Amino acid sequence: MSQRLVVAIGGNATHPENIRGTTEEQEELAARSARALRPLVERGGELVITHGNGPVVGKILLRQYYAREHIAPMRLDVCVAHSQGGIGHLLMQGLEDELARAEIDRQVACLITRVEVAEDDPAFHKPTKPIGPFFSAEEAQNLHRTLGWNMMEDAGRGWRYVVPSPRPKAILELGLIASLAAQGVVVIAAGGGGIPMVHRADGSYSGIPAVVDKDLTSALLGSALGADTLLILTAVSKVAIGFGKTDAKWLETVTASALHAYEKEGHFAAGSMAPKVEAALKFIEHGGKRAIIAHLDQALAALDGQTGTQVVPG
Ligand code: ADP
Ligand code: MG
Repeated sequence: MSQRLVVAIGGNATHPENIRGTTEEQEELAARSARALRPLVERGGELVITHGNGPVVGKILLRQYYAREHIAPMRLDVCVAHSQGGIGHLLMQGLEDELARAEIDRQVACLITRVEVAEDDPAFHKPTKPIGPFFSAEEAQNLHRTLGWNMMEDAGRGWRYVVPSPRPKAILELGLIASLAAQGVVVIAAGGGGIPMVHRADGSYSGIPAVVDKDLTSALLGSALGADTLLILTAVSKVAIGFGKTDAKWLETVTASALHAYEKEGHFAAGSMAPKVEAALKFIEHGGKRAIIAHLDQALAALDGQTGTQVVPG
């Protein structure tokens, strides 16, 4: 049975918060992701991999901040593109090395991917996504003045750059991704949720400073490609009801309508599990057969239905 699979890997797979983030550390993480993904490649079928860019884009911004007197800072859409390039490079190399060791003859490609968002998306009036490090109130004022960053106080921990997180509407590289995948190429695409672009009245596109949620973009990509399965790999093995509590209940197979009801009860944290649940629901709503949320190291078992939270229509 030939299948079409979209796999999303989280920020934890590329750059957890707690590491220094040296190139060697990131290479090791890419090798770990590659080991987790190899069995999926071995399965055959079409495979497209997306990834988060969490702390990486934060560090790119921080570098710009420290160098701003000497080197002109780039707009955020360009920073997202930088993060796709760096993460994609390491992941592509990790996968190629892993496939070569296993004597699997499949090519890997990484595509810089742009995502269309609506210029009138309400998110542009209400930036909500904090990225990068914490600053003092005085530094925050200075950043607002010198770089135009929108700064917001984050839960008593300091001030952070907050950016709009508009909804992804279309993936500009969709046709290319589909044709590469159909040729058997393992495609890495839509990193960091894609580079946010707006469609101008004259037909042109331009980049806009925002960060699109990678889980929502992965769901859109999965639906647009007609994928059978969306596999969201993260740092927990299942979705929980009452997460963090002693009586937490871990969901195994769950229908979309039951999951939707749990979502409305507020079980899933904004910015972490909520976007994954929303992505799973969107994918099923648009005709997907199965969305799975599982641990990175259990990718194959999750695909085989042995672990992970399996979201099914109904
Ligand atoms: P990623 O980098 O893979 O996108 P996130 O940290 O954004 O990962 O989201 C996954 C995290 O969400 C889990 O590691 C867990 O700490 C947290 N989480 C919040 N609510 C839940 C829940 N209800 N069930 C499971 N995990 C949850
Ligand atoms: Mg996340």
